[in-house]
Amino acid sequence: MKGAAVQKRAQAELSKDPHTTLITATAPVAANTHGGRAKCLQRLVRLDLPVPRTVALSFDTVHRIAEGEMPDIAEILSQFPENALLCVRPSSEDPDWGGPGAILNIGMNDARYVDFCEALGAEAAAALYLRFVQSYAVHVARLDPDEFEHVADDGPEALSEILHAYEMETDEAFPQDPAEHLAAVLRSMARAWEGTSARLLRQAKGAPADAGLGLVVQEMIPGVGQGECGSGVLQLVDPTTGVPKIVGRYLSQSQGRDALGAGASALYLETDDRGPALQDLAPKAFDDLKAHAALMRTKLREEMQVEFVIESGRVHILDGVRVARASRAALRIAVSLAQDGIISPQEAVMRIDPHAVSELLHRQVDPEAPRDVIGTGIAASPGAATGRLVFTSAEAQASASRREPCILVRRETSPEDIRGMHAAAGVLTERGGMTSHAAVIGRGLGLPCIVGASSMVFNSKTKKVTAPDGRVFAAGDVVTIDGSSGQVLAGEPPMLEAALDDAFQTLMGWADAERDIGIRANADTPADAQTARNFNAQGIGLCRTEHMFFDPGRLTVMREMIFAQTSNGRQAVLARLLPMQRDDFVQLFRIMQGQPVCIRLFDPPLHEFLPGTRGGQRELAEALDIPVSDVTRRVEEMKEYNPMLGLRGVRLGVTVPEIYDMQARAIFEATLEASHDGDPVVPEVMIPLVSARREVELVKTRIDAVAAAVKSERGLDFDYRLGVMVETPRAALRAAEIAPHTAFLSFGTNDLTQMTYGLSRDDAGRFMSDYVNQGVFPEDPFHVLDTEGVGELLQLGAERAREANPDLTLSICGEHGGNPESIAFCRQTQFDYVSCSPFRVPVARLAAAQLAISDKIGDA
Ligand code: PEP
Ligand code: MG
Repeated sequence: MKGAAVQKRAQAELSKDPHTTLITATAPVAANTHGGRAKCLQRLVRLDLPVPRTVALSFDTVHRIAEGEMPDIAEILSQFPENALLCVRPSSEDPDWGGPGAILNIGMNDARYVDFCEALGAEAAAALYLRFVQSYAVHVARLDPDEFEHVADDGPEALSEILHAYEMETDEAFPQDPAEHLAAVLRSMARAWEGTSARLLRQAKGAPADAGLGLVVQEMIPGVGQGECGSGVLQLVDPTTGVPKIVGRYLSQSQGRDALGAGASALYLETDDRGPALQDLAPKAFDDLKAHAALMRTKLREEMQVEFVIESGRVHILDGVRVARASRAALRIAVSLAQDGIISPQEAVMRIDPHAVSELLHRQVDPEAPRDVIGTGIAASPGAATGRLVFTSAEAQASASRREPCILVRRETSPEDIRGMHAAAGVLTERGGMTSHAAVIGRGLGLPCIVGASSMVFNSKTKKVTAPDGRVFAAGDVVTIDGSSGQVLAGEPPMLEAALDDAFQTLMGWADAERDIGIRANADTPADAQTARNFNAQGIGLCRTEHMFFDPGRLTVMREMIFAQTSNGRQAVLARLLPMQRDDFVQLFRIMQGQPVCIRLFDPPLHEFLPGTRGGQRELAEALDIPVSDVTRRVEEMKEYNPMLGLRGVRLGVTVPEIYDMQARAIFEATLEASHDGDPVVPEVMIPLVSARREVELVKTRIDAVAAAVKSERGLDFDYRLGVMVETPRAALRAAEIAPHTAFLSFGTNDLTQMTYGLSRDDAGRFMSDYVNQGVFPEDPFHVLDTEGVGELLQLGAERAREANPDLTLSICGEHGGNPESIAFCRQTQFDYVSCSPFRVPVARLAAAQLAISDKIGDA
């Protein structure tokens, strides 16, 4: 009762200054005015936890302090028992934004030192005073840290030395007035927050430029003295895995977070084989602490790290902060909070950053490990891989056959590198962007990949890579690429394995229950399709058939086809490819078990299949039994100035129709074969790079004819859906006249971005970072959909197409399909589904679920 009366009086006094608030259960304290720490302390007070008395200073007050306007210090001091020591801690709105370090033992002076010597003993008293003088000297008086931070001893002698040093440096005795201490500490912390480097630091963590700082002034519970005294931190989960486990340390006769830095002298918390533990030393305090932490978890609906002090066996809770956690721990923590009924499954889904999920699907560099960064590029395919540097596909394959992991380094990759990429643990290229060959294949294979690492110098002749700092790495040297961050690291840092565990599956199940847009995968091979299925994709949204022709057994046949001079000649060679394609499709249909599979007809310029090197041309000449000069001439003839704008996609379908005929036949024959022993398959056939209605009409006529032929030859019926890829601005603009001829439109936003910007997707990586750094583009538009320009085309195309054909299915299948920000746009535009690389499917599922939940709770 007496305590309540004191609090009431204090509250009344403080209300004279509404920005200086004693934290009580009902005081007006909010995270957006006083910061997260102040709000958390209020919650702890409401839980009746043993929290020392605390006064919160609002953002506004702290800002005014920085400007030189001090609050009434005497009034603040009057909230605390006379002679109490105080500490001041930062309280930014989001604890992750940081703030100046806490300052402890404010108010310590010669007189109190004498008192403490009597009460606690000279050693303890000296330790308290010494600590304060050190922080005051360095952080408030801004004296040279080297002079003050490293003292060999911490007894009374060290104290008098440091007081002397202070006097020598400042020509003044150490200040003795607690009010002066407090004012100086508040001023220095307020000003530190307003400084440029602190501002930049927090902005890098996502804080707005004008983010405010609150401060909390708290009564110190010294943690030194007689009986069992000390301090420590405790949390109930492992920060890396999120598995329940008591983690933390305790140090007798210590303050703050000393226990964490104390090494072997700190105690474990729970009884432990490795050494003495708090549980053995002070079982009651340990039990109390555990109970307090469990209560905090339930009531604060979060895993909290508890900062505590034990004073003569009694526990005090100084602070609670959200447990810092790796991605996999974040996921397990959210799931177990929901499973314990503390938060809802929807909230668990909302708590996980979809970008972080992709880390879980791959091995990653242990976030705790030191990183020796030797270069950076575009993080094109997530996951980390370590291996020896190799510079050719052949070396990569040789390395794989020796079971030695390798990192394939290329200026840029081409289809000829596919085998090398399959054999490598990771790929690093000097050139390229998010949708260049290496990036697309890397993501498809789940292979870590960094492209556009142009800060490093690649020399394929000498087989060396030179880092910007001058270090040279040669073939055989071990490096690690982190495809999630784009960093190239020297050596082999410790790794965390992929974590597709029960918690992951549970969360994904909850996400799917909320999601309202379909997610398919871009999958070219049976292995991709299997990954897509494992990640619960709702079908294949894009199978790029050309990748099937790069298989070594087929490449030569493909080349023969390209060399054929007549339609008959082409058909004869294509007849050899037909059974191979049919097998590909049968496998895909079987793996996808009745789910939709959208097969895109041949897209790339033919010359991509021709050998680029003299050796390759010689090999082809041998296979075709023609002179090398003929091969060279044909290769020359097929060269185009702008191959991406040349004879490719539907333009091949119109001018060299035999290829599409063969593919259509392979698809339909496979449809019958796979439907024979499984669910009926309804294949989707997609025409790439369309820009005119007539292209669709011409190709459709031939495909319908092939379907009719297969049906009549086999005496069996099947359905199929024909669709068009919208990859040129013209196709988007003319969608109304294309739509009546198709069952679906799929926006290929890689090419559409390339053509809308007039920006080569293979070359943009070279200058993209300059463009983004200078604010020309907010983001790499090949990575995050440009909702303004490209988006306007998508919207126009979707509207016009829907009006002409309301039954049309609409989707995107460019790389943007796996990007959470871009999915938001697709959902708003009411696309039926997005399709992305298999390894991005879970990211997309989660992002889509979050959008649906946000809409439901009115937070969109
Ligand atoms: C696209 O252009 O968006 C697309 C999906 O096709 P590709 O990346 O194969 O050109
Ligand atoms: Mg394309």
